[in-house]
Amino acid sequence: MKHLELLDVCRNIKDEIRKRIRRIPKSDLRIEVGMGKDGTPTKKVDRVAEEIALGILKDYDFRIITEESGVLGDGDIIVALDPIDGTFNASRSIPIYSVSLCFSNSEILGDAFFGYVANLATDTEYYSYGGWGKGESFKDGKPINVSSTNSLKCNAIFYYPDRDYGFKRVRIFGSAALELCFVADGSIDCFVDIRSHKNKGFLRIYDVAAGLLISRNAGAITTDVEGNDVEKKRFTMDERLTLVVANKNLHNKIIKRIRGM
Ligand SMILES: [Mg+2]
Repeated sequence: MKHLELLDVCRNIKDEIRKRIRRIPKSDLRIEVGMGKDGTPTKKVDRVAEEIALGILKDYDFRIITEESGVLGDGDIIVALDPIDGTFNASRSIPIYSVSLCFSNSEILGDAFFGYVANLATDTEYYSYGGWGKGESFKDGKPINVSSTNSLKCNAIFYYPDRDYGFKRVRIFGSAALELCFVADGSIDCFVDIRSHKNKGFLRIYDVAAGLLISRNAGAITTDVEGNDVEKKRFTMDERLTLVVANKNLHNKIIKRIRGM
């Protein structure tokens, strides 16, 4: 499938989710409606958004890995779907929540070829195509690049600082997919997530796959906290990630600072 066709599919999903969410009374958005395959409670806003996305994706021959329903379908193209990234924000009308879709030719993140993240509150959209490390990234149709700062006195997104790392500012917005795009377009200098869960990272592949492709193709280095490139990460339900994402000058300094070197 060509990237323009995939862009249309993603925009259709985004538009339908936005329309539908607007019609749900605010107080209903956060009602728990079950348990997701990821082991966390599914809220009404998650359920509604996922039903819309799956309803559109089912017309194609995809294998879909998604937060609430797990793995569906058996097509050759893998789609990592997070119908709502930032459910807490969505359920409280804080305008920072997104839909995230990443398309890959194999179970390996490095084979991802199209990534799409849209802020469902503001209708801002980010996407990337052209292959891992070989493509370009866009915000609302215009090419984007990471910042060029090489000083640790910079603006960081950090889940969660356990000490003072010397950043100028630390911000936590609550939607990793979007926050990786804030690094991709240079609004923020780096994204760091050092959280661990059962000796693995905390982030799930469908939270961050699209944002990682977008930031990678905007010039970011994308590794875990050990400094290993995330391109070997897999599109599976139990994959977990820590992350350090920043331009090449800043990235190494952050890794050293975090590891106390
Ligand atoms: Mg979600």
